[in-house]
Amino acid sequence: MVITFPHMGRVYISVKALFDDLNVKLVVPPPVSKNTLELGTRLAPEMACLPLKINIGNYIESIKRGADTIILTGSCGPCRFGYYGVVQKEILKDLGYDVNIVILDAPNTGFKAFIDKIRMISGYSSLSSLMRAFRAAFKVTVEVDELMDIVLRKRPREKHKGETDRLLSRFEHDVLKVHGSTETLELVAIYKDKISVIAEDEKADPVRIGLVGEIYTLIEPYVNLNVEKKLGSLGVEVHRGITLTDWIKTHLSMDMKYKRARRNALDKAKPYLGRCIGGHAWETIAATVGFNEKGMDGVIQILPFGCMPEIVAESIIPTISRDLSLPAMTVTVDELTGEAGYMTRLEAFVDLLSQKKGMVS
Ligand code: SF4
Repeated sequence: MVITFPHMGRVYISVKALFDDLNVKLVVPPPVSKNTLELGTRLAPEMACLPLKINIGNYIESIKRGADTIILTGSCGPCRFGYYGVVQKEILKDLGYDVNIVILDAPNTGFKAFIDKIRMISGYSSLSSLMRAFRAAFKVTVEVDELMDIVLRKRPREKHKGETDRLLSRFEHDVLKVHGSTETLELVAIYKDKISVIAEDEKADPVRIGLVGEIYTLIEPYVNLNVEKKLGSLGVEVHRGITLTDWIKTHLSMDMKYKRARRNALDKAKPYLGRCIGGHAWETIAATVGFNEKGMDGVIQILPFGCMPEIVAESIIPTISRDLSLPAMTVTVDELTGEAGYMTRLEAFVDLLSQKKGMVS
């Protein structure tokens, strides 16, 4: 069995560490590219969400590299994500791909079924080795997210432009060559140290922007047109409203302290949205209010075209912006989004925030 999975930001680092530890053969899907998007756009229904289209492209690219088993995440809930796994399975079947498809529903909807499927994929590893591998993979996720926080803080302050990104791309190259969680964690630690000591411009006083939106769009650079890097190059310190660590903790953690903290964070959305309406709209609204409390200069919502929950969030954000005097902007991304127009909007927003910041300080 050679498994593969959807590409989603830097998820592949943790998934690779997990399956290396379990001695499962794996095809890491190539980074999302024009080819991935073209494949997905051609083969998925026109009105499907952008993430679904790209996932289809990922699977086909991985199948061509030898994968015969695809792991998809399933879900239930008010938005189309609830049907994702099943729809993708049907599309691949219709296209004639002879692959096994394993849909993993979140463990909080059935822990035993989740573990049974993982055990089956891993050649019936013992429960203890599974738990060990999961814990280590989670540690990898936390460390990679911390590495990214260092990158986001460093980009707008670096003395020699481009140094942070040069090291980040070297890390992304090297991480594919290491095997298992121990080697991965060692490598992450090395790059955390290297990036932390990059020389900073002492006069740098970056504008701070919070990014909010649906998780896939926020963490996959190809889909959000590398918004973190673009903003960093404009001298912005970026803060992410949702990370992979948050997602895993939300769906897997039994930690009551985390659950209370999450509840408190979501309560911030109460005056505007009091419940989950699918996707990450609730988190988007809560994070927007939370970013104001953290003193951000502005918020940008990244909205994948046609995403129902984020469209609702988009309609609420102007009210929050008015109530809290927090500048906010929504950018919609789809397969037709042009890079130049996107960059112009980011530049204009950052200019506005810089002027406002200059007037205040
Ligand atoms: S959150 Fe939005 S983009 Fe994601 S599956 Fe739901 S509707 Fe589609």
